[in-house]
Amino acid sequence: MVIEKDIWNYLKEVFDPEIPVLSIVDLGIVQKVSVTPESINISIIPTYTACPAMKRIEDDIIEYLKKKCNLDVKVELAYKPAWTTDFITDEGKQKLKDYGIAPPEEELEKTNLFQELVKVRCPKCNSKFTKLVSQFGSTACKAHYKCEKCLEPFDYFKCLK
Ligand SMILES: [Zn+2]
Repeated sequence: MVIEKDIWNYLKEVFDPEIPVLSIVDLGIVQKVSVTPESINISIIPTYTACPAMKRIEDDIIEYLKKKCNLDVKVELAYKPAWTTDFITDEGKQKLKDYGIAPPEEELEKTNLFQELVKVRCPKCNSKFTKLVSQFGSTACKAHYKCEKCLEPFDYFKCLK
């Protein structure tokens, strides 16, 4: 018999399709896990509104858990509380940085992210001499930056409140 703790561990192996280094647990979108003798029930919080990745995440969870546990898997979307980038775990933020994406910065939350005044730290050299290249990086959830010091381009995971 699987227990909830096992499910949480399995969910650490389900990755965000847009940022494949982050598991859905790192992303903080798994709200609740419950197990009955017949089924596994998971509540996930959608990240960005209408993010097409959510459907994919849902399918991945079902497929992966069915394979691991051979039980019926139900995934429901929870809209409260709304997901914010604060839900990303510290481990998740570190993984983003290692992957070359600047994690959302708490102190920026009150500033307008679409202004170039926002200084995002370079994930490679930690320099704050960075420049916004485009408001949209590889996905709408990210902005594209370039470091003026090491000259590396990188994505910034936009803060979302
Ligand atoms: Zn740099």
